[in-house]
This record gives sequence, C-alpha cells and structure tokens, in this order.
Amino acid sequence: MPRLKVGVLSLQGDFREHIRSVELCGHEAFGLNRAEELQAIDALILPGGESTTIAKLARSFGLFEPIQSAIKAGLPVYGSCAGMILLADEIEGAALGQESFGGIDMKVRRNAFGRQVDSFESDIEFRAVAGPAIRGVFIRAPWVESLGGGVEVLATVASESGIHPVAVRQGNLLATSFHPEITDDFRVHSFFLDEIAAKSTATKR
Ligand code: GLN
Repeated sequence: MPRLKVGVLSLQGDFREHIRSVELCGHEAFGLNRAEELQAIDALILPGGESTTIAKLARSFGLFEPIQSAIKAGLPVYGSCAGMILLADEIEGAALGQESFGGIDMKVRRNAFGRQVDSFESDIEFRAVAGPAIRGVFIRAPWVESLGGGVEVLATVASESGIHPVAVRQGNLLATSFHPEITDDFRVHSFFLDEIAAKSTATKR
C-alpha cells in the first residue's frame, strides 16, 4: 500500500491526536496551516475543537477558500466533531456569522446532545469497519439533523428524540460526531485512508 501524505489542519483543536492516529495507520501526517501545503497532500483531516474558531482562523490564515476549492475538486477530507460541522452544508445552532467549508449535503446540529450529557462515551456499530464496536467519545458533539440522498450513514446513536446519524460519508468526504483520535483505536482513520491508498494504487497502475 502506498504511504499517503496527510495534512491535519492545525489552527486549533486536537490536531496532534489526529497526527498520531494517521502515523499509527502507517502514513505520514503533518500540521497544515498554509494554503500552499494543500497542493502536496493525498488527504486532509479537520480536527475536533471549536468550529467557530477554526473557521475564523482559516479565514485569517488565507485557508478558507483554498480548502473549499480543494473539497470541490475532490480532495478526500475527514472531519471529527468540529470537523464534521465544518464539512456540513448547513449548521443548526450556528454562532452569528459562523461559516463552514461545506461539501456534505447535510444539516448538523451543534451541541446536539444537550447540557446534561455534554460529554459521554458509547459503543458504536460502525458500518464498514470490521471487529468489535468502536468506542465513541462524544464531547459537546453535533449530530446530523437531516441529510440529502447522496449521503451514506455509517453509524447512528439513539437519544430520547430519535435516531441520529453520527458518522456519514459523501463521495470523498467522511465525518464523525465522535473523536476516534483520542482513543488508541485507529480503525476509523484506517477506513478513511485505506480507501484513498487503494484508489491511488489503482490510478498509478
Ligand atoms: N461544540 C464544538 C463546536 O461547535 C465541537 C466540539 C468538539 O469538537 N469536541 O465546534
């Protein structure tokens, strides 16, 4: 399998943890914070953190439009938690003027699980990942409120108000409400990266 070069957006949030997860998968990762660096990567990761802050910093670092164009051009991108919010076409509960890069035809609700259950862990059945359930760590997490026909749901969580998608994929974009990067289980990262590596082998053949 080719070794991929993965940029992890490093403006705010838990980018170090994502860098570690990518390395555990056997690929190269670095903290990306300059637009030129988007040219030389096979994939991009948007970390967990504060989606409003990350979006604002992306603007001030001149990264906002370049990331948006890269997504439109088909760059594979994985976002966890705040990263999921940044990949959503629409945000419920957005801060005033809050922007997202968009790309996934979905509406996400910020801080969806409410104050009582600000943070929690739950075993997740993640479709497409073999083996035991994935431990989902949710920290003031969003869920997917509604989605378009082109969006595939990979995992859900039940609450009093119903069943909510917490992992989705559309084309080259993957988003999870939870944070696999802060666990030692890197199967979600592998799932994301193996597919890209397989495709790049196929095109180089
Ligand atoms: N609540 C945060 C936001 O809206 C996301 C929290 C997280 O990434 N753990 O950006």
